[in-house]
Amino acid sequence: MHYISTRAPHTPPAERKRFCEILLEGLAPDGGLYLPETYPQVDAATLTRWRGLPYADLAFEILSLYVDDIPADDLRVLCRKTYTEAVFGTAAIVPLKKLEDGLYLEALSNGPTLAFKDMAMQLLGNLFEYELARRGEELNIFGATSGDTGSAAEHAMRGKKGVRVFMTSPDGRMSPFQQAQMFSLLDDNIYNIAITGVFDDCQDLVKAVSGDLEFKRKYKIGTVNSINWARLMAQVVYYFAGYIQATQANSERVSFTVPSGNFGNVCAGHVARMMGLPIDRLVVATNENDVLDEFFRTGVYRVRGTADTHETSSPSMDISKASNFERFVFDLLGRDGARTADLFGAQVPRQGRFDLGADPAFAQAASRYGFASGKSTHQNRLDTIRSTWQKYGVVVDTHTADGLKVAQEHRQAGVPMLVLETALPIKFAATIVEALGREPERPAQFVGIEVLPKKVRVMAPDVQAIKDLIAQACA
Ligand SMILES: *Cc1c(COP(=O)(O)O)cnc(C)c1O
Repeated sequence: MHYISTRAPHTPPAERKRFCEILLEGLAPDGGLYLPETYPQVDAATLTRWRGLPYADLAFEILSLYVDDIPADDLRVLCRKTYTEAVFGTAAIVPLKKLEDGLYLEALSNGPTLAFKDMAMQLLGNLFEYELARRGEELNIFGATSGDTGSAAEHAMRGKKGVRVFMTSPDGRMSPFQQAQMFSLLDDNIYNIAITGVFDDCQDLVKAVSGDLEFKRKYKIGTVNSINWARLMAQVVYYFAGYIQATQANSERVSFTVPSGNFGNVCAGHVARMMGLPIDRLVVATNENDVLDEFFRTGVYRVRGTADTHETSSPSMDISKASNFERFVFDLLGRDGARTADLFGAQVPRQGRFDLGADPAFAQAASRYGFASGKSTHQNRLDTIRSTWQKYGVVVDTHTADGLKVAQEHRQAGVPMLVLETALPIKFAATIVEALGREPERPAQFVGIEVLPKKVRVMAPDVQAIKDLIAQACA
């Protein structure tokens, strides 16, 4: 299996890479995102055989189609080490919760940080450790977080050999629970840095440090953001697992509704569908930050400025642009790398938007690729949290509530709708209290985490001071 960039001008493109070459990389050198050269096809006999597999072995089967430069036995061990009941709380790993006939929640948030990012990040931690050991290299992950991503990355990389994590976050702006989740990690290879500033200051630091190419090379600076192909690939597995749990036979179809921000989660659904998984619709659910809903309604992709990006009660979906979206557009345009490069490399940077509304390809987003979309407001989410509790006795978090609200608008008779549960309510307790008048349940292992000892240093947004810290840690 080879990987190409979404901005590669020729077919077949000059630059083709294998999995382990792109594992530790971010963007392709031309600014595009990596995708497999073709999507492996899963036939009915294979899907039937997979029905009986434990999650870790299903993951191995799917990953094997994309990874041919790690020996099969090693890859199987990595999958079994990652997807355990001890780490994910249940033997099913992603159990389906039936709300009523034809409506299910797929639980993706029982990992260490109680959000779906653990599903991919836990695998990434093990893949990084394996590949770095094989190469005899080290990696310093330097990132910025306002919550879920940084915490999932730290929990995945803690104690891993060859990896250090330097994670900046805006000082005092995360919830006490989120702060405790990150700052209570006392591992030597985890560096929590609270920046006296806002999230944008943290992102600017990451840009400045990664933009110093000599420093980046010397100190092996890397990232774990959602454009990493390995993360997306790991997410493909739970679409298969959800389908298998919801159906008896391969003649049945299901739809998924996915609370979306950067389009990473639902892009994995698109890949699963391209592999032949019988998915009817992929419903993209957004909050007030409706970049994606606007595109699927009108064909206009318009990135938002900071002033135009709302702080909402589903903060992990508060995005100004959808960083994985380029992958889908590349497929939608018949894998035309030159056009994709023009849209994302020229039109978006210059005009902040592009418009495919009049392009015949746009209609295919729905007709051929199964996409639909919708959005929710804060009031919609409160109402959904309330009605889900009253009707089914289930408390959902704000992101999942967004998904459920939009899912209701797209249900079809005879097609089960699976809503991806992307976080547990305890992470967003304030809104649960607003909706239900009571605190959400806290899993036993999180009781009292706010008072655990913390390891964090507070620093000014000073590029040189951050570089010095990294250099010292590597000395
Ligand atoms: C990251 C995140 C999302 C959005 O996922 P994307 O892959 O960015 O679309 C939704 N819900 C929660 C809880 C998240 O942490």
